Amino acid sequence: MSSIKDILTPFTAWKNVFKEPVSIKHPLTERPGVPRYRGFHKNDIQTCIGCGTCESICENEAIDMVAVAGFEAKDGDSGLRPKVDYGRCCWCALCVDVCTTGSLSLSNEYTWVDTDPDNFRFIPGVDEKSWDKNELGWKKPEGDYEFYGLKRVDMGELEPDERDHSFIEMIKGYSKEQAEKEADRCVECGICTATCPAHMGIPEYIKAIRNDDLEEGLRILYDTNPLPEICGRICTHKCESVCSVGHRGEPLSIRWLKRYIADQNPSEKYRAILETENLQKNGKKVAIIGAGASGLSAAHYLVKIGYEIEIFEKLSEAGGMMRYGIPEYRLPYDQIDKDINYILSLGVKIHYNVNVGKDITLKKISEDFDAVFAGTGLHLGRSTRVEGTDHKHVYQSIELLRKITGGEEIHLAEKIVVIGGGNVAMDITRSLARLQKIKYGKVQVITTSLETEEKMPADREEVIEAREEMATVNPGWSPQRIEIVDGKIKGLHVVQCLSLFDETGKFNPQCNLDNKNFFEGDMIVESIGQGMDLSYITEDIKDHLEMGPRGRIRVNDNFQTSVPWLFMGGDTIQGPDVIHGIANGHKAALGIDKFLIEK
Ligand code: SF4
Ligand code: SF4
Ligand code: SF4
Repeated sequence: MSSIKDILTPFTAWKNVFKEPVSIKHPLTERPGVPRYRGFHKNDIQTCIGCGTCESICENEAIDMVAVAGFEAKDGDSGLRPKVDYGRCCWCALCVDVCTTGSLSLSNEYTWVDTDPDNFRFIPGVDEKSWDKNELGWKKPEGDYEFYGLKRVDMGELEPDERDHSFIEMIKGYSKEQAEKEADRCVECGICTATCPAHMGIPEYIKAIRNDDLEEGLRILYDTNPLPEICGRICTHKCESVCSVGHRGEPLSIRWLKRYIADQNPSEKYRAILETENLQKNGKKVAIIGAGASGLSAAHYLVKIGYEIEIFEKLSEAGGMMRYGIPEYRLPYDQIDKDINYILSLGVKIHYNVNVGKDITLKKISEDFDAVFAGTGLHLGRSTRVEGTDHKHVYQSIELLRKITGGEEIHLAEKIVVIGGGNVAMDITRSLARLQKIKYGKVQVITTSLETEEKMPADREEVIEAREEMATVNPGWSPQRIEIVDGKIKGLHVVQCLSLFDETGKFNPQCNLDNKNFFEGDMIVESIGQGMDLSYITEDIKDHLEMGPRGRIRVNDNFQTSVPWLFMGGDTIQGPDVIHGIANGHKAALGIDKFLIEK
């Protein structure tokens, strides 16, 4: 039932008709908004990374990402910054609440008198405004609510006491539920794509996981990476270091998500999923030297274009450093085989145990094929050359890893000193620790490096896991001399290393000779980097090759050398790592195709 008040109330509003509007009466009178009022935008543009998540969430299309003078695109920063249009903005503050870095906020300033409508479109933080220094306004409440999870879905792995005496794979892989939960954290900004050397479609394949369309996920992976099982396990995942979610939380587990897609797709369905059942041939032949990451990648993309591919491989199996340099507990052989067998199923031929330069010359190969791609890797160990390194029980990590991964017996001392601070040093440390545990029941490996703990080039997780497996990692020492008594190694003398590079950036270690140490060991393993063996390139060809910095052969953007039929990629050109090899094998394949079309 309506009351008399309900009938009369609308008429009482008429009294306002005779009042002057407040905005006309007090146009410039300051009437501050409440402290958390959602006024005009502010942006700390030094903290903003141009991820565009604010632009994506704005339902009103009030934000455009624009280039700003002085901000270039670089790893982890698109170089763009948000521009806001107040003709569209409804001050919902979704953009602030979703901002991945927390750089965006709203001031509590809401009055603005201006005669030029264009001024109501501006780049917060770049176009100076009076409220830039205003502390009040709307900021996303800390810890109140989040649009995406800040914490990673944990990856299950074997406990140290389950893994320290075996080479079985230690990382278990995500379940469907875990992968979808982790994929849900992605804001699809694509900032990671530029940092991935292969520029993989990361947000797209993560979205495929969310949509539970893993066949589509596999197709996206193969667009730029034909070794997803391998990369899903051992990629150096530089992309994760720039993930925008990592600014306020933990970055996406991009590598493990890639592995999830590859793991869930059975190999026998690959050819149907990837639509490679009826590849057409174009009648041209390309030779590849080395069946490592770059060679296999080049082979995959070339055979898909129509080329006949033959790979000349020095060792008895394909995979290069992925098979012979990375221990099985990180990269099981059946997963390497899954990736390689698919490439072989496309018709790629491999000639095993063929040493180019000895069994067949590069010149002969160049005469038999239309073009050659060489991805021969870094298979030579480097020595510190300190006194005593000529002893028979001083080894190079690379030769030991080749034997261990090939199932050969090695000399295994009870006490071992490893010299090196990179990932290969961690691989040999952890492999030797496992072998010691199996043979002697205890681990006595000390690993030392010139670099201090903070500067060691190895992935942090590798160092932590090596220690969990009872290896000692004691960085920051410079090897001086190997102590040998009666023909037997007793250990390594070291002094404290203070710095590695001089002010010009040249490698020039400085040491404190008064701070000495001695690491006991009956066997020393050097793991201070690898070199390339280019002896297969004869002088008549070498004479025409332009050299680049650090003894590397110069190549153009298509990975073509100055000898037109010879393309090169992989660790001898860039990296060293698997994903650079994959990326330049792909680019070289496109370059070879272009070269042969134009020839
Ligand atoms: S406050 Fe809302 S409407 Fe305005 S720019 Fe942000 S998301 Fe868009
Ligand atoms: S979401 Fe934040 S960090 Fe990303 S572009 Fe917008 S303001 Fe910058
Ligand atoms: S993985 Fe991270 S950086 Fe890449 S698209 Fe997703 S949120 Fe953005």
